[in-house]
Amino acid sequence: MLPVIALVGRPNVGKSTLFNRLTRSRDAIVADFAGLTRDRQYGQGRVGPRPYLVIDTGGFEPIRTEGIVKAMANQAELAIEECDAVIFVCDARAGLTPQDSRIADFLRRCGRKVILCVNKAEGLSDIAKAEFYELGLGEPLLISAAHGQGVRDAVEAALADF
Ligand code: GDP
Ligand code: MG
Repeated sequence: MLPVIALVGRPNVGKSTLFNRLTRSRDAIVADFAGLTRDRQYGQGRVGPRPYLVIDTGGFEPIRTEGIVKAMANQAELAIEECDAVIFVCDARAGLTPQDSRIADFLRRCGRKVILCVNKAEGLSDIAKAEFYELGLGEPLLISAAHGQGVRDAVEAALADF
């Protein structure tokens, strides 16, 4: 069995962009508006010689959700159940949001390894990650899914125990 990484986070933080970079495919739909990826998408990535599976998910909103948004939350929850490690994606440009905090509450209790990534960090200094420590998920990693910065480190951290 290959190790499985789930990409989780609220809509528009760059999960599908990261999925495409990891899998080097166009399978995930990258959109300029929130929440287009309605279903889980599976792909295979490789770090050095090492293959792994990656799951993209729609936006995650664990409480007060209905309809399609609720369905997307369920997809993310199913992906978390299926995975060995979660890459939790936040957005450095938007900063920390209440939705991020609610997702973090869920992830701290999910029993999976969680790597906290602060995306869209190209050109930003370490100051950008300071507010994300309060999520209680350890050291935030600054990444840029669009440019590739920090992405390999994030995957290696996710796979370190597997
Ligand atoms: P998702 O909803 O979490 O899957 O987010 P998407 O991957 O669809 O990306 C949402 C928006 O963020 C798109 O306009 C992307 O081009 C943009 N984006 C994704 N990654 C980065 C990044 O590393 N830097 C910047 N500046 N924008 C990014
Ligand atoms: Mg997406």
